[in-house]
Amino acid sequence: TEPVTSPDHPERCTGTTAIRWERDESGVVTLVLDAPRSTANTMNQVFRDSLTAIAERAEAERDSVRGIIVTSAKKTFFAGGDLKDLIRIGPDRAQEAFDASMAVKHALRRIETLGKPVVAAINGSALGGGYEIALACHHRIALDAPGSRIGLPEVTLGLLPGGGGVTRSVRLLGIADALLEVLLQGTRHTPRRALENGLVHEVATTAEEMLAKARAFIDAHPESAQPWDAKGYRIPGGTPATPRLAAELPAFPANLRKRTGGAPGPAPRAILAAAVEGAQVDFETAQTVEARYFTELVTGQIAKNMIQAFFFDLRTVNSGAARPAGVEPRPVRRVAVLGAGTMGAGIAHSCARAGIDVVLKDVSLQAAERGKAHSARLLDRAVARGRTTPAERDAVLARLTPTADPADLAGCDAVIEAVFEDTALKREVFREIQGIVEPDALLCSNTSTLPVSLLAGSVERPADFIGLHFFSPVDKMPLVEIVKGRATGDEALARAFDLVRRIGKTPIVVNDARGFFTSRVIGTFIREGVAMVGEGVEPASVEQAAAQAGYPAKVLSLTDELTLTLPRAIREESRRAVEESGGVWTGHPADAVVDRMVDEFGRTGRAGGAGFYDYGEDGGRVGLWPGLRTHFTRADTEIPFADLKERLLFAEALESVRCLEEGVLTSVADANIGSLLGIGFPPWTGGVLQYIDGYEGGLPGFAARARELAARYGERFEPPALLLAKAGRGERFGGQSG
Ligand code: NAD
Repeated sequence: TEPVTSPDHPERCTGTTAIRWERDESGVVTLVLDAPRSTANTMNQVFRDSLTAIAERAEAERDSVRGIIVTSAKKTFFAGGDLKDLIRIGPDRAQEAFDASMAVKHALRRIETLGKPVVAAINGSALGGGYEIALACHHRIALDAPGSRIGLPEVTLGLLPGGGGVTRSVRLLGIADALLEVLLQGTRHTPRRALENGLVHEVATTAEEMLAKARAFIDAHPESAQPWDAKGYRIPGGTPATPRLAAELPAFPANLRKRTGGAPGPAPRAILAAAVEGAQVDFETAQTVEARYFTELVTGQIAKNMIQAFFFDLRTVNSGAARPAGVEPRPVRRVAVLGAGTMGAGIAHSCARAGIDVVLKDVSLQAAERGKAHSARLLDRAVARGRTTPAERDAVLARLTPTADPADLAGCDAVIEAVFEDTALKREVFREIQGIVEPDALLCSNTSTLPVSLLAGSVERPADFIGLHFFSPVDKMPLVEIVKGRATGDEALARAFDLVRRIGKTPIVVNDARGFFTSRVIGTFIREGVAMVGEGVEPASVEQAAAQAGYPAKVLSLTDELTLTLPRAIREESRRAVEESGGVWTGHPADAVVDRMVDEFGRTGRAGGAGFYDYGEDGGRVGLWPGLRTHFTRADTEIPFADLKERLLFAEALESVRCLEEGVLTSVADANIGSLLGIGFPPWTGGVLQYIDGYEGGLPGFAARARELAARYGERFEPPALLLAKAGRGERFGGQSG
């Protein structure tokens, strides 16, 4: 490893460099990205210094350089920002963040304008800062390696690409395509998709081919430069001053809200602004504009929330923190799915896609075949969109065996039950199959509300029984809530965990209790919204409050989807359970509203044709039911809109604290990830407990606000003891930020 030698900055001769300079006899310099003592390249201080030193050296030795190839010595090309570092940057370090962003930009700009051809040989994923480096190269060749992804996913962490990514992607693709294909959704493209979308120029199938292509480019373009540095360059599709684009741009924020669902947090807005403002000024000014917006985001709380959840917590959850250590993996070979309805069909499809043989059983062969047809539909769509091949579709379908005959379940080493939500029926189907499947088969139920321990009582091996709570639609929803019953053994938990990971989903692990974690917490969201209707709050404001708080689903429309009878049934069961155990049942202000809607007006939700909304003949939503405004009288006291938003957020966050207090939840990461991926808690919060950690004033600030809400709206907002204890000790729930 050559030391960093920086003629202008002798103090930076640290002896370590993250970029090796390798010049061959023909004058081609390969810059090898190779961060010391690390398995991946990230944008940290050493890397920034190395980049500056390399730019200086390239200028100093320009005459002996014929061209430059940038590639990586790691498995991935470049992993992105150093998130451990970024999450700690508070507003007091704004200048430092700005300077760091500008330092990267200057170094890349110097290499880009050297007057020599520069080629990115992207040998593995190039995300964030990695793709920004590639964008500064004149030619981009991606190695089509499995799992490789290319893109600028900063927005998913509440950030924007601060290394020239906004400035260059806009100049490469035009404002509209840069925003929609790259910046606003943070899509991670496969190398082939990156080629189709113009993110790279070529794709290679081997490393040798990639390097040969890089050299060929250098030979053919001895004086290469970027398109945006050529005379007469215009941004594709025009600038905001171009009439057509000027007409389209005002619709962008609305489209954005539609795509991201409600208030998307500040990152998409900042990206939009940086792109639009940057397109109206010269390249250097655009880079400064970009750095300013980057600094604003990186020093703020929302990026911290999102980095904490979507990077650190997600990694904790997926890495198996909750999987019992020491249990040998024993991969499932053949899974029985009982019930081929909405959930069963989706679960069977996910398993078959992961290469597992599936026997899909329903009461009739036709019903089972309908389940398989669901899979065929999804696969056909994937083929049409180029996401899978016809051969892969056929292979997946060949793994799915529909049946009505329990005897066909012989040889299954795992069972996932998804019949109607009925205790007696579920017990019955397990009894029917337990002598047929493998004697040590893993037994799972997809119940969404029934206590797992209760169902486990009906099987001979309760230690092998566990809840696997999938979400609808199964092929899209990334979360599975694993529910440990009282008798569930470590072996079953480990096998369930491995199964969920194998089908590419994220598992959280919770202890058995009514509604587990997710159903219980989303229940508080629904009840809070419904209670507002009872208080006479304008129904449209209730919906607007959810949207503006950043929820992807509006509260009353979600209630209609789930039906009003379901929460009522759950409530009645809970009431019975509480009263039978000698407890005192405390109702909720929403109860009376639900009862009137169902009993007095016969409005049970979307499936019943009428709920909080009216529905047309085709089942489409027509609008909020005008009767809400006449039957639930308007309050004479105006409720502040901020209270409406926070009541929804607080109701869920406080219930989560109670779940933690009661041991239903055992990890903060599970709470955050479960709420974000399972029940639509707003992404900008970083999840239910990160929301509390990141609240203004920290835990004491949150507790004080909860008390305020309790005084105005009811005891349910009183902060739980665990929250107060932690606040008193100056602690937080989790996290690295702060
Ligand atoms: P569904 O009504 O769509 O499907 C149930 C299927 O089970 C039907 O096809 C039915 O014919 C079949 N079935 C009934 N008795 C059977 C038997 N003896 N043997 C085999 N199959 C039988 O229901 P769903 O929405 O798929 O829900 C299934 C389970 O998943 C329920 O426990 C539900 O609570 C749970 N769940 C549902 C959702 C959701 O959003 N729909 C989400 C999570 C969990």
